[in-house]
Order: sequence, then C-alpha cells, then structure tokens
Amino acid sequence: MTPVLIVLNAGSSSLKFQVFDMLDGAEPRLVWKGLYEGLGGSAHFLVKDAGGAVLDEMTWDSGDWFGHEEALMHLVSWLSQFREERKPVAIGHRVVHGGEAFSRPVLVNEAVIQRLEALVPLAPLHQPHNLEPIRIVHRRLPGMPQIACFDTAFHQTQSEIASLFALPREMRERGVRRYGFHGLSYDYISSVLKDYDSRLAEGRVVVAHLGNGASLCALEGGVSVATTMGFSALDGLPMGTRCGAIDAGVVFFMLREMKLTPEEAERVLYTKSGLLGVSGISNDMRVLRSKAATDVDARRAIDLFVYRITREIGSLVAALGGIDGIVFTAGIGENDAATRAEVIAGLAWAGLTLDEAANRTGGPRISSQSGPTAWVIPTNEELVIARQTRSMLGAMQDKLAS
Ligand code: AMP
Repeated sequence: MTPVLIVLNAGSSSLKFQVFDMLDGAEPRLVWKGLYEGLGGSAHFLVKDAGGAVLDEMTWDSGDWFGHEEALMHLVSWLSQFREERKPVAIGHRVVHGGEAFSRPVLVNEAVIQRLEALVPLAPLHQPHNLEPIRIVHRRLPGMPQIACFDTAFHQTQSEIASLFALPREMRERGVRRYGFHGLSYDYISSVLKDYDSRLAEGRVVVAHLGNGASLCALEGGVSVATTMGFSALDGLPMGTRCGAIDAGVVFFMLREMKLTPEEAERVLYTKSGLLGVSGISNDMRVLRSKAATDVDARRAIDLFVYRITREIGSLVAALGGIDGIVFTAGIGENDAATRAEVIAGLAWAGLTLDEAANRTGGPRISSQSGPTAWVIPTNEELVIARQTRSMLGAMQDKLAS
C-alpha cells in the first residue's frame, strides 16, 4: 500500500486537487490531478492521470446544493475506490497569507485555524476560501493531518528595509508591512534553477510569475530579496482583474468623491481593474492577443501590462545590483511568446537579447548567447506543497520516534 498526499487549492467556487505518491527517499510523484468548479451552482468534477488522460468526470444539477464540503466528501469517496493500493496520509493546503507568524509550513490545529482566520483582513478575497477546506477536514476527518503551506513564507528572507512601508511605526506594529505572494511558485523556480544553469542558482535572477495574478521576485543565491507584491495581493504589476500598484490617493478619491463604499472600492480594485478594466474586454491574455491587431483597447491593456513589467524589472535589477538571468513562468509567462518578446525588448539596456526561434518554441532558454540569460520554466506550486507536507510529516514522525 502506497501512502499518498492530497494537495488542495481552494478558490471561491473551485477546488483544485492533486494526489501524490509518497515513496521512500524520492520526490513526491503526481498520480492524479483534478478540479471541482462551479461550486455553489452547477458543479463539475474532472480528474486526470499524471499523463493528462481523463479518468472521470461528473456534473451536478444546480438544483442540488454542491459546495466545498460536498466536493471534499466526494473526493474522499472517489479516492476510496483505490483503497487497496493507496492510502491518504495527509492533506497539504495552499494558504495565501501566513502573516508574520508563519514563516514555514505548519501542522493545523484549532489554535492555528484561529490565527489564520485573524489574517483574513490582510487577504479578504483569498484567505477565507483557502481556510474553508481546512475547517471542513478538521470537522469531518478529525484524524487527518493537515499542513498549511503559505504564499508569503518564501519572502521572509527579505531585509527589514525591503519589507517596510514609510508609514508611522505603530502601523508596522499592527502588521502593516510588505509580505509578498506567489512564494510557492518562486520556491519551485528557485529549487530547479540549478537544473537549467548552475550560475543562475547562485546568481541574481528576476522571476516573472505572469498569470491571472502576476508578480516579480528578485532572487539572489535562490532566496527572495525583493518582490513587487506587498501588504496584499493588489500591489505591483497590473493583473487579470487587479490594478497593481496605484497611488493611495486614488482610493480616497473613490471613497470621497465617487462615494463608493470600502467594499465597492475593493471590488473595483480586485475584480474590475487590470487587463479587464483597461481593455473593457477580457482578463484573458489569449482573448486580448487575438484582438490586439485591430482593437486599440486590447492593445492598450497589453502595452500597459508590458510597460509595468519592464519598469518593475528595472527596480528589481537595482535591488539586486545587476542581473544574471530572467525567468518567465505561469500562464502568460509560460505560453505567451509575444509578451516575453516585448518584455525582453524593453530590457536591451540590461544586455538581454531575445533568441526569437527559441522563444517561439518555448525555450527553455530564450536569450542569445552573450549577456544575461532568459528562460521559460513551468512552475509547479502543488509539488512545493507536496514537498513541504511530506517534510512536515517526516519531522512529526522523527519527533514521535525520539
Ligand atoms: P494562470 O493564472 O497562471 O493560470 O494564467 C492565466 C493567464 O494565462 C490568462 O491570462 C490566460 O489567457 C494566459 N494564458 C494561458 N495560456 C495561454 C496561451 N497559450 N497564450 C497566451 N496566454 C495564455
């Protein structure tokens, strides 16, 4: 019987899962991956094997309530058909915010849940959804070890100066500081740099995580020294629907002059801005690219996205004191050759030059021979959660044995 880890990543109406075999001394190995979407409405379940072949699929009528709890219980029952071969031994969860207290993964108990709930105001649109399956498993499967893995934790290596806002000291004492996000993705990229180029693993690298959420991270010797996201997942680059960095004065204008409530203003900044807001068309880069040749609004949204990325890379290169390489990852970074080409064109001053043929085919190396190098590396946040969960389990077993 093989012990397996379940990795969960919960959103407002979705639950993504991956199941990993935990084999002695080896990297966790993906067996199944799938998702529930449309939770709370007409829910859909899809599961594939590691090679991408569909194994099972199901849709529930919107008349029958099917939410996160029903999805989790369905997953447990779906997995039970393999109980002779595989036994779930722990669940690892993606949790967006670990605050100041959680600089590494943590075994969940009632006290931890309460401390994570206290961080909801710091990530109001993500943290409550991340915590929901944790609470459900705690209640329904009380013996199952749960490990929370944080998007903020990877950035705890940053200096105090890099993490400070120029605000009164009492606000810093209330936890108002830069935390940074997408840490599970950056952790993965950092862990594989040596497989692409050993000089990168030791050098100064900017990682561009460009997905529906987007941020940049400056790595030196594989650890985070600066990042574009700050206190919340709103900061830094424009994203699919989020505004990225804006003048705080805009928020006062929205509240005072436009008479928006704080909740309305929050909704505009999180869900109606970014590529969607600027284009008025879509948050999806594929849609914008398909219209960019003829539609000025689609073109403007892409141009702003690329402009902000190149400007922010300049800021991170300054923080690093130079650049040895740049890595593109996540949905846009991995798939959109045009965005990569436009960003690299804006970085000629840093000595970066594009290998156009390699860029078209996805690299992995997409820069020409001399100067800093550029790479396309697919991220794998779920594998990082599986690694962290397994290492926590190992530490727990060592503690019990001693
Ligand atoms: P993620 O949040 O990492 O799943 O990334 C989602 C973003 O990646 C969306 O803007 C998609 O349009 C974009 N994306 C995914 N595939 C492609 C592709 N083949 N070409 C351009 N953009 C893509």
